[in-house]
Amino acid sequence: MDATSRFHGPTRPLRVFQFIGTYDRVHFRVARRRGVLRIGLVMLQGARHVHMAALERASAESGIDIEVHELRKASDLEAAELHAIVMPGGESTTMRLTGNDPVSSLLPAVFEWIRADSARPVLGTCAGAILLSDPQDGGAKMVDAAIDRNAFGTQTNSFQTTLEATSLQREFPGVFIRAPRFTQTGPEGEVAAMLGDEVVGVKTGNRLALTFHPELSSDVGFHRWLIETASALTAEA
Ligand code: GLN
Repeated sequence: MDATSRFHGPTRPLRVFQFIGTYDRVHFRVARRRGVLRIGLVMLQGARHVHMAALERASAESGIDIEVHELRKASDLEAAELHAIVMPGGESTTMRLTGNDPVSSLLPAVFEWIRADSARPVLGTCAGAILLSDPQDGGAKMVDAAIDRNAFGTQTNSFQTTLEATSLQREFPGVFIRAPRFTQTGPEGEVAAMLGDEVVGVKTGNRLALTFHPELSSDVGFHRWLIETASALTAEA
């Protein structure tokens, strides 16, 4: 049986998306402008530039000014004084390796930033969701769920379908690429997205883990959620 056949709604084979490709605009601005939200993008490996494009569109839609800070090493994060973080998909094993490399040490710094306060807005997609739910660094999970890697099968079992983004209260285009599956949610794990009767998005505080790739769809709702949540928090402060 095909891994997707148990879900409701039509599924389509995965296609290459319009946003994949080079994206060479400079987002990092050294001169810090007042009132601008600083969003950190974990640049370890995988789908990073499409997140930049999605964040830009979300910024334009919401009218909230942002700077995207590319995070490659721990000192990038320390320097940036971030309001939110995006952890893209990719290959979690590679991301753990490169992120724990003593030269980069990015992953421990990112985890420390996230764990400091559960209100800090974080969006983790696919492998990013794996790292949030299963950090494997001896510390606490950042999202209260258990997750199983590659649980939909191999690359050929990647698919697109419509899912229910419960946290956005609407349907959402779900792009699943060698996606993991949540096997359990804990008491702090709020359901944020469902595919049929399966949980595909879990939120703990303002940390959102999605097993799919919202950045590869035309809907920037989850990126807007990140920006708008961060903006509301800075307004409160
Ligand atoms: N299969 C990858 C992993 O296990 C996740 C795939 C993705 O991020 N698209 O890390």
